[in-house]
Order: sequence, then structure tokens, then C-alpha cells
Amino acid sequence: VAERPFTNEPPIDFSREANQQRMQAALDQVRGQLGRGYPLSIGGKPVETGAWIESVNPSHARQLVGQVAAAGPSHTLQAIETAKRAFDSWRDTDVEVRAEILRKAAAIIRQRRFELAAWITLESAKPWRESDGDVAEAIDFLEYYATGMERLAHSRHRNLPGEANETFYEPRGVAVVIAPWNFPLAILTGMVSAALVTGNTVIMKPAEQSPVIAALLQRILEEAGVPAGVVNYLPGVGEVIGPILVQHPDVALIAFTGSLGVGLAINKLAGETPQGQLHIKKVIAELGGKNAMIVDGDADLDEAVKGVVDSAFGFAGQKCSAGSRAIVLEPIYDRFVERLVEATKALTVAPADEPGCGVPPVIDAEARNRILKMIEVGKSEAKLAFGGDVGELANEGFYVAPHVFVDVPPNASLAQDEIFGPVLAVTKAANLDEALAIANGTRFALTGGIFSRSPQNIATVKRKFRVGNLYVNRKITGALVDRQPFGGFRLSGIGSKAGGPDYLLQFLLPRTITENT
Ligand code: NAP
Repeated sequence: VAERPFTNEPPIDFSREANQQRMQAALDQVRGQLGRGYPLSIGGKPVETGAWIESVNPSHARQLVGQVAAAGPSHTLQAIETAKRAFDSWRDTDVEVRAEILRKAAAIIRQRRFELAAWITLESAKPWRESDGDVAEAIDFLEYYATGMERLAHSRHRNLPGEANETFYEPRGVAVVIAPWNFPLAILTGMVSAALVTGNTVIMKPAEQSPVIAALLQRILEEAGVPAGVVNYLPGVGEVIGPILVQHPDVALIAFTGSLGVGLAINKLAGETPQGQLHIKKVIAELGGKNAMIVDGDADLDEAVKGVVDSAFGFAGQKCSAGSRAIVLEPIYDRFVERLVEATKALTVAPADEPGCGVPPVIDAEARNRILKMIEVGKSEAKLAFGGDVGELANEGFYVAPHVFVDVPPNASLAQDEIFGPVLAVTKAANLDEALAIANGTRFALTGGIFSRSPQNIATVKRKFRVGNLYVNRKITGALVDRQPFGGFRLSGIGSKAGGPDYLLQFLLPRTITENT
């Protein structure tokens, strides 16, 4: 059978009035459904727990998006037991059947595209285009991993006279998926669908800030035909149920995307291998970044300013791929900074549901307070070239104005620690070698970029700027499934690029059978 060609889901064109109307209508429809309760789903059955996690709209903090049941330790054990019981039959289900369930889920999501984007805008405060990108990426993961698993399902045969050899893949067992809130549908769908299509059973633990979108995904997967117990929806407080999930001897694999601190804690705990555990746990951990864009002395200023602003302030800087450092060569430094500040001033801080939103609020009060504190520290480390307060919006939601710091020393906390907010650190470099040393001089290695017109300098940067995803003369966010497999190394994570050809292998075990014939 010929392999299905993969194509990325095209973005919705919001410059068309018809699409603007559809998005407004979807937002209205979803506003009418806010405030509902969502139980856990274990073994295909709804489970109430008596405790709730409230999810609020960061743009309008008095608006309750929904509340989800909070799992406690006993529900967590129940979910693991259920996933364990469902494993054998799911492992033995034909790959084609599993792949078709993913494609069916993709079709449902495609049909509900505006509505799901509206939920993301209201729960996670993503501007329209970003929410649509999140939904499109979820579709891409489902389609891409479905085909990817069909490809891996062909055994490899090496037969000689008198000897037949077959090598093939099997799933690992119970997979725990722990997701962040910043790509509430895409990243969750990516990790869950990879675990599923490879034949593992799944416990899906969404972030506390985006559990309603996760509840919708659970229902979509059930509607698409995932058998009871194969995916279990287990929202809960990460610090409470996370360690139980990670330590449990019946869990074979943990797929985590989130912060460095939590990722390291999970990796350590998962490595403990208690008595009675019959395997060594596999940890996939995609973590943070401190991503830099180098602006060369001959860079096209229009392109560089736009690329840096989009990378730094899109979705208020809350992407692991966001540009949080600009390293600018001396000859162009003053002109670049002047233009950058002008472009940043022109951004509109606004609620995410407004079509003209440039910079939405950050995810919650805790994030806002943390970012504001880091800005205060930044003022003692470097010069604040632009930044201010958000006026009346402060009473409405969790808004932080975009901030640009200049003359930032490379070792300042502003230039070393992930802020995960709309804060950009600009550093001057005397030459390209110094720029590269600064760019490579953090714990992270996720994304990076170069704006330059010099083929020689571009070639040097390609070789020497060691990050997982490097972009030349464009913004450094917005990786697409298949075209730009995504993920980093150093303390940016352990795992092989999401949306790339090796990703599914991490969820599988290879076996070889040799027969004397
Ligand atoms: P986070 O605070 O680390 O949370 C991620 C998940 O871990 C949440 O579901 C959280 O649950 C859970 N968790 C918290 N404590 C835990 C524990 N002790 N054991 C097990 N799980 C625990 O990260 P976030 O704020 O959601 O996301 C932002 C971070 O993710 C940034 O650092 C960003 O760079 C990174 N990120 C990386 C990538 C990538 O591909 N490399 C992509 C997106 C985001 P609760 O919500 O209940 O606390």
C-alpha cells in the first residue's frame, strides 16, 4: 500500500471577513458554554472526586471557563490500574485500526476547528491566529504519527539459507503524559497520540491552567473510537499526583513537556526503579529555552526587527521557542535598538478574544507576579529601553506590557534564566565570534536564529550555533510538524524531536526473532 503523503493543515486566513465572522460566532457559542463541570474519565466512565480545579480566562479573570474534577491519590492508582488492564488488548490491536482512530480524531478536530480555537482563546488567552495554529498542529500530529506508525509496523526481515530473522517494534506499556498549558491542544495531542498509535495505554495529565481543552480532547478521542481504559483523563495538582504517577512500578514511560525544574525532578524520580518494577522507565522530557537571535551588522533591518518582535512578543513570549535574547553586532546596534523600541511601542496589549490583540495577557496571576519580579531584578542589571504598565487592563486580567532591556550583560539573570513572558534582553557583540559565544553561553539549546545577508556568516552560524532548531532570516517560533521537527538538547530536554521521524521510536521496544529454518 502506498504511503499517504503528509501535508500540513493550512492556517485559517483571518484577513477574510467570512473567517472573522466564523471566529466571532465560535467565540459567542463557546461563551455560552462556560462554567461547566468536567469529571475525570477513567476506563471510559466519568468520575467525580469532590474536589475541583477552576480554570479562568486570563483575559477576563472573573470569567470561569470551567471546572474539572481534581484527581487525588486513589484516582491516580485507579487510572494506572485501568490503563494496565487495557494494555494487552490495545497492544494486540492492528496498527491500521489504531492509526484510523487517530485520523478520525483529526477529522473531528478539523470539523470543529473554529470552536476549538475559540476554547483555546478563552482558556489560554491565545490570540486568534495562535489558537488556530494550535488546533492545526494537533491535526498535523494525529495525521503524521498515524502514517509514521504504519511505516514502523513493517517488520524488517533478514533471511539467509537456514535462518529467518525478523525485527519489529512493540509498545512499552502504560504511558503517563504530563503536559504544559502553553500549547494546550497541540502538545497534549502530540504526546497522547504518539503513545496511543504505538500501542501504549495512556494517562493524560493536563496542566491546571488548561484542563477544559484537555477534557474536550478526551471526548474527541472517545468519539473517534479509542476503547475504554486506553486513554484516561486525569487532571489534578501536579505536585500531588505527579510523583505518584512517575514513581509507580506499573508505569513504563513518561512523556513530559514543561519546565526544567519539574523535568529534572521527574527524570530523577523515574530513575529510582523500586523493588518489583520489571523495567527501567523511559523518560521523554521537552523543557525550556533561553533562545537567542543574532543580528548581523549587514542584516536587513526591517526583517530583523519584525522577526525579533514576533519571536519575543507573540503569545506574550510564552512559547518554549520564543526569542528572549537579541545579540546585535556593534555596527548596527543603535539603529536596531531604536527601531526595535518603536516596533514594540506599536504593539497592542489587549484581551486575546479581541481580533486586534497584539500581546495577550500571561496565563495566570502567579506567572504575572513572577515576570514582574524578574523585570524588577532586570532593572538592576541592565537598561530598560521600553516597558510600562498596562493601565486599566490590570483590573481585568493578567496583563504584562512588553519590555525591552538593552546593554544586557551576557551573564545577567535576564540573559540566562527563562522568563516565559514578554521580556526581551538585547546584548551588544563586537563581532560574530563574540555573538556566537554569547548565544551558546546558556544552559539551554532549544531554538536560535540569525539575521544576516552574508553567506559566509550564515554558514558559520549554521555550524557553530548549537541549538535544536536554528532559523535563518525569519522568526524563530512556529515550527511545523514534519517540516521542522522540534526539540532541543542540553537542559532543553531529552527526547527526539516532536513531529519528526524518530519521535515514535521512543514509545517502542524493538524485538528480534531468529528462526532456524
Ligand atoms: P510546568 O510548571 O513544568 O508544568 C508542566 C506540567 O507538569 C503540568 O501538567 C504540571 O501540573 C506538571 N507538574 C508540576 N509539578 C509536577 C511534579 N512534581 N511531578 C509531575 N508533574 C508535575 O510547566 P508549564 O508552566 O506548564 O509550561 C511552561 C514550560 O514548558 C516552559 O519552561 C517552556 O519552555 C516549557 N515548554 C517546552 C516545550 C518544548 O517542546 N521543549 C514546549 C512547551 C513548553 P500542574 O499544572 O498541576 O502544576
